[in-house]
Amino acid sequence: MTEEMKIDELPGVGPATAEKLREAGYSDLMTIAVESPKNLAEMAEIGEATANKIINLAKREADIGNFETGDALLERRKAVGKLTSGVKALDELLGGGFESQAIIELYGEFGSGKTQIAHQLAVNVQLPEDQGGLGGHALMIDTENTFRPERIVQIAGALDLDPQEALTNVHVARAFNSHHQMLLMDRAKALAKEFPVKLLIVDSLTAHFRAEYIGRGALAERQQKLNRHMHDLQRFADLNNAVILVTNQVSAKPDAFFGDPTRPIGGHIVGHTATFRIYMRKSKGGKRICRLVDSPSLPDGEAVVTLCEEGVRD
Ligand code: ADP
Ligand code: MG
Repeated sequence: MTEEMKIDELPGVGPATAEKLREAGYSDLMTIAVESPKNLAEMAEIGEATANKIINLAKREADIGNFETGDALLERRKAVGKLTSGVKALDELLGGGFESQAIIELYGEFGSGKTQIAHQLAVNVQLPEDQGGLGGHALMIDTENTFRPERIVQIAGALDLDPQEALTNVHVARAFNSHHQMLLMDRAKALAKEFPVKLLIVDSLTAHFRAEYIGRGALAERQQKLNRHMHDLQRFADLNNAVILVTNQVSAKPDAFFGDPTRPIGGHIVGHTATFRIYMRKSKGGKRICRLVDSPSLPDGEAVVTLCEEGVRD
């Protein structure tokens, strides 16, 4: 794939306008190309005529992609890797492990084990393929400050990996708000050119969005931004043949729009873009029940995992 033009390389778009676009979350040409002039004008605080002009330029320059034949798609599917969770039952539930070129969403209440699984996968991805890994690095966008290098050391040690080396293969960035979270995708893309990044974690995908966009009036904008973020993630998955793991809370108190306390945040946008959705809930002691809720080609079902010092186990 050819390198796509940057926003500020578009003829007639000055640095000030480019900055406004970026600040509004338009990080690549594709997101601009598919936007309406009215929305773009509103979001980036530019005139509608300017927005219209920029959209037309973006349409011309964006890497819009093309139709692919079934056999080409099958060829790409053959490259799909399966990352082991280290838990047999969970791997089986997922048809062999966490798939690359896909977004897997873990959702569940606080303490259900989402972050533990994220840590476990950040180590497992480093294993060679014949041991269930993808022989690559992990990136983590940490929005809740819950990444713990000590856990990587423990989990790597339990797998007989060199803990120090395991730590150097996990790259973590704190995201301070939803905007920052989306901007970090640019850094992620750059890092993926330096290292073979095979796992990208966003923990949590929705927390900032939920905190910042409150009430019915903000819902449309929140969903639009989340949608853009999800597509950015899917693109990363495709380009790097990587696994994308995102975590999501359930709304403990009724959401402005999605009142059900056991429903994940983000509604249809997240639900439709994630390839696999796993609902996690607490059971006795360290046991957690993982329920596969939504998958393109696998039956729904459940697996029990145990959270322990060594990580996540049967
Ligand atoms: P979530 O991200 O879903 O809010 P976490 O993944 O942080 O939840 O899970 C927290 C749980 O993980 C704790 O309640 C505990 O059961 C387990 N846990 C965390 N660290 C350890 C550890 N070092 N040893 C054993 N269990 C642990
Ligand atoms: Mg967590």
